[in-house]
Amino acid sequence: MDRKIHLTAAGRKLVTVIPGDGVGPEVITAARRVVEAAGAKVEWEERQAGARVFKQGIASGVPQDTLESIRKTRVVLKGPLETPVGFGEKSANVTLRKLFETYGNIRPVREFPGVRTPYSGRGVDLVVVRENVEDLYAGIEHMQTPGVAQCLKLISRKGCEKIARLAFEVAIAEGRKRVHCATKSNIMKLTEGMLKRTFEEVAKEYPGIEAQHIIVDNCAHQLVKKPEQFDVIVTTNMNGDILSDLTSALIGGLGFAPSANIGAEVAIFEAVHGSAPKYAGKNVINPTAVILSAALLLRHIDEMAAAIAVEQAVLTTLEAGVLTRDVMGDAGAASTTAFTEAVISRIGARPKQARVREYKPLKLPSLSPAPDYVRPARRRVVGVDIFVESTLAVEELGRSVGELLTGSALELKMIESRGTKVFPPTGAMTDTVDHYKCRLVLRAPGGDLGDADLINALQRVGAKHRWMHVEKLNEFDGAPGFTRAQGED
Ligand code: NAP
Repeated sequence: MDRKIHLTAAGRKLVTVIPGDGVGPEVITAARRVVEAAGAKVEWEERQAGARVFKQGIASGVPQDTLESIRKTRVVLKGPLETPVGFGEKSANVTLRKLFETYGNIRPVREFPGVRTPYSGRGVDLVVVRENVEDLYAGIEHMQTPGVAQCLKLISRKGCEKIARLAFEVAIAEGRKRVHCATKSNIMKLTEGMLKRTFEEVAKEYPGIEAQHIIVDNCAHQLVKKPEQFDVIVTTNMNGDILSDLTSALIGGLGFAPSANIGAEVAIFEAVHGSAPKYAGKNVINPTAVILSAALLLRHIDEMAAAIAVEQAVLTTLEAGVLTRDVMGDAGAASTTAFTEAVISRIGARPKQARVREYKPLKLPSLSPAPDYVRPARRRVVGVDIFVESTLAVEELGRSVGELLTGSALELKMIESRGTKVFPPTGAMTDTVDHYKCRLVLRAPGGDLGDADLINALQRVGAKHRWMHVEKLNEFDGAPGFTRAQGED
């Protein structure tokens, strides 16, 4: 086993457990009891994170002793965490994922016996592998003008390679045949396109697995229409967040959706659902998602027999018709504790109909932790985009910027408003706001824009207009490292 697991003096595997907020303590208690009943050689180290911690004034929502415990154990079973309004700006969940670079979020869903949905009988059984630390979820946001906000979507080649490899390794570990890569590369050619291109490269190393790209909106459509066609879906963070909530609804809802946040060093296991505050303390919540997350944890720490026992006990319980309020409504529903007891009493039982998958240990992609520098053979800067805040009519702004650049190394090629060229006029009937992007290009073709000329242009434009953002127009190995505006030639 290549995992770094902390063994106690008694030879048990130490796991950090974070009960979390809302219904968290109830479902985590349920999962702990089931894991113990399954005979797993596990010892818990309980730590806190979330609302209570924010309210103690710890801005990250994650105290130092929790971080130290995770650094030691490398494995976490976590309840849902809330970020209370007015305390801290960042979610404690995202903090944990990012601090420990758990780059892959694995979200399996499958049809469960006894859980009736419009898809029952179709054999839905798939895994969403979601990139977990990059994309819009890096949360790098700026108000560029008082009326226009920006969120940076950063996608790295290394991040794409790790998540694409992880998806193929998940397919191998679970005996699956096909991996779909869902992106919006037709629109976001550089960011979403990076995952598509990297996926297609990585796929060549896995000839035994069918690899297919799908546009993410069609993926959502196909998931609702014919979900049984999917095996593994790999996707970027934001798309994965949405698709995986959709997939959990196919099989009965968030109460049945487990997840694993996988990193090279640390893995965090949790239900997909949140703290469901309206059900906190009522003993009605479905603990299946967290119990199945614990089964994923057991597989991760090589407690395969206990993992299978837990999974089989859950399936057998559902087959027996023991169901919680989310499936049954109020009449005849098992409480959280009654459901947990029912699972514990079935440890060792085998489901009659539901198939239990055979899993091989998941081989984590081994990529160097060193910084990943992509080094092009040739590079040059062909111009610069200067973003300005202006209330001028666009013709007036265009004329002014053009005049200000007279005699400089750069000339104004065009001005765009939120991605659409509006100057020189194109006849487009585009609303404008106080936010424009002026694209300046080198007058001399084939040149390489230096900082002195760039700063000179900035000073010239800045003399009359308020600028708030600058982006170099890079060319790498002859390929433009920027997109064109709608209407730009
Ligand atoms: P939520 O807690 O997931 O609850 C949404 C709804 O999903 C519930 O009202 C309930 O639906 C159903 N549900 C969720 N878990 C269930 C379970 N175990 N059994 C049965 N039904 C379940 O989402 P939210 O209300 O948007 O978020 C509440 C808080 O949790 C927020 O502070 C949010 O930031 C946080 N959150 C944390 C995490 C995390 O820690 N990973 C993830 C998501 C959200 P019905 O109302 O139809 O019964």
